[in-house]
Amino acid sequence: MKKIIIAIDGYSSGGKSTFAKAVAAKLGYIFIDTGAMYRAVTLFAMRRGIADDPEALAAALPEVHIAFRFNPATGRSDVYLNGENVETEIRRIDVSGRVSAVSRIPQVREKLVAMQREMGRARGIVMDGRDIGTVVFPDAELKIFMTADAHVRAERRYKELIAKGEEVSLAEIEQNIRDRDRQDETREVGPLRRAGDAVLLDNSYMTVEQQMEWMDEQLKRFE
Ligand code: C5P
Repeated sequence: MKKIIIAIDGYSSGGKSTFAKAVAAKLGYIFIDTGAMYRAVTLFAMRRGIADDPEALAAALPEVHIAFRFNPATGRSDVYLNGENVETEIRRIDVSGRVSAVSRIPQVREKLVAMQREMGRARGIVMDGRDIGTVVFPDAELKIFMTADAHVRAERRYKELIAKGEEVSLAEIEQNIRDRDRQDETREVGPLRRAGDAVLLDNSYMTVEQQMEWMDEQLKRFE
C-alpha cells in the first residue's frame, strides 16, 4: 500500500486519539495528536498570564517551540513545550477550559497548521484534530469524521481523569465537552466541520476492536 495521509476530525473526547494511535500502529505510520499542540500553546499562555490576551499571545508565539518525542515507557509520543515534557499537564481540566479560546486566535492556528503540514510532507501519517481534513490536508487520501453522543464522551473522559487521580465531576466534564463542541464549531478560523468527502464514524457504542474492523474496510480501497 502506498503511503497516504489519514485525517481524523471530530468532537472533543470522542476517542479520536485512541483510534488514530491504533491505526498508526497497525500501518507503521506516524501519529500526531494536534489537540496536544493547541493544549501546549494554551499552557504556555497560562503560565505567562496571557491566556486572555490574544495580542500578547500572538506576539509571544515565536518563543513557543513544540515537539513530539517518543516515550518508550508508554509506547507513544509525548508533547514537549520548550524542551519540557508537558504531556500530563496539558490534559488538566483548567487547560481544557481555556484551550478553545486560544485555538480561536488566527496566528496560533497559522503557526500550528504550518507545523502540521510540514510533519505530513512525507505522508505515512495519521493526524487527528478538528480541521485536518478541511484545512491542514484537504488532499488527504482518507478523511474520517468521528462523532459520539456527548454524554457517552463525558463518561469516558470522566473515567480517564478519575483514574489519573483528578478531582472532577461528571457534570463539569459534560459541560466542558459541550462548551468546547460549540466553540470549536462556531469559530471563524478552521471551525470543526465534516469535510464533504469524509466518511462518518459514530463510535458511541463501538469498541476499539469494532472500530478497527470498520477501518480495515475503509483501507481496502488503498490496497
Ligand atoms: O483533541 P483535544 O480535545 O485534545 O483538543 C483540544 C482543543 O484544541 C479542542 O477543543 C480545540 O479547541 C482545539 N483544537 C483545534 N484544532 C485542532 C485540534 C484541537 O482547534 N486541529
